[in-house]
Amino acid sequence: MTFAATVLTLYPEMFPGPLGASIAGRALREERWSLEAVQIRDFATDRHRSVDDTPAGGGAGMVLRADVVAAALDSVADDRPVLAMTPRGAPLTQDRVRALASGPGATILCGRFEGFDERLFQARAIEEVSIGDYVLSGGEMGALVLLDACVRLIPGVMGAASSGDEESFESGLLEYPHYTRPYEWEGRTIPEVLRSGDHARIAAWRKSQAETDTRLRRPDLWERHEGARVQSPSGARRRQDD
Ligand code: SAH
Repeated sequence: MTFAATVLTLYPEMFPGPLGASIAGRALREERWSLEAVQIRDFATDRHRSVDDTPAGGGAGMVLRADVVAAALDSVADDRPVLAMTPRGAPLTQDRVRALASGPGATILCGRFEGFDERLFQARAIEEVSIGDYVLSGGEMGALVLLDACVRLIPGVMGAASSGDEESFESGLLEYPHYTRPYEWEGRTIPEVLRSGDHARIAAWRKSQAETDTRLRRPDLWERHEGARVQSPSGARRRQDD
């Protein structure tokens, strides 16, 4: 089963865009995943092919019409999860990406203007997803981000490198820092432990770096990680041993 992505958008020409290059592009050509972009405007019913209207209650901008977007969505309805890109959605996580990547694919709704008529989310099973606490001009970049994160996890797409559970977020922590040749650059050397060949010492060093960096850079992640550790039976045991 390949991962099938369908993107509903007013700008289908934005796809595959950057997903046609590099790892995702090669996987697309190898048919490890598929991508279809559907023009929402094709489902407009009036003479002007309008997809938006002024916001009820007044205010700036335009709102995507529920009837037009729903018609576009219903035209591709199947058993894949439907995600809508919106800053009001649940922040995208690596856990969610991993779950999506192991499923049949996704249908992704891209907003524009002020966003979607809220009744759309009441009338259809749609998961509202945000890619971060900032505002884009449209959902297309969000869909590209989401798909890039999913595609690299599809078996065979990245080879062994991606399967590592040491990657940032996979263990609830940021990944440890990396170094490569030259050994000395502008007077700075690679940490000695990484040249020791002692795999146990290297693993211990990487673990402690990952923990320190997460604690300093992402106190939110660290708190969650520590919370999970205290709650899990092994974590609790470790705590008592401290
Ligand atoms: N008025 C909205 C923002 C609309 S931005 C608000 O303040 O919540 C236009 C479109 O860009 C949205 O409908 C959504 O599809 C997309 N978008 C903007 N920011 C996003 C984000 N952080 N995550 C995902 N999609 C986003």
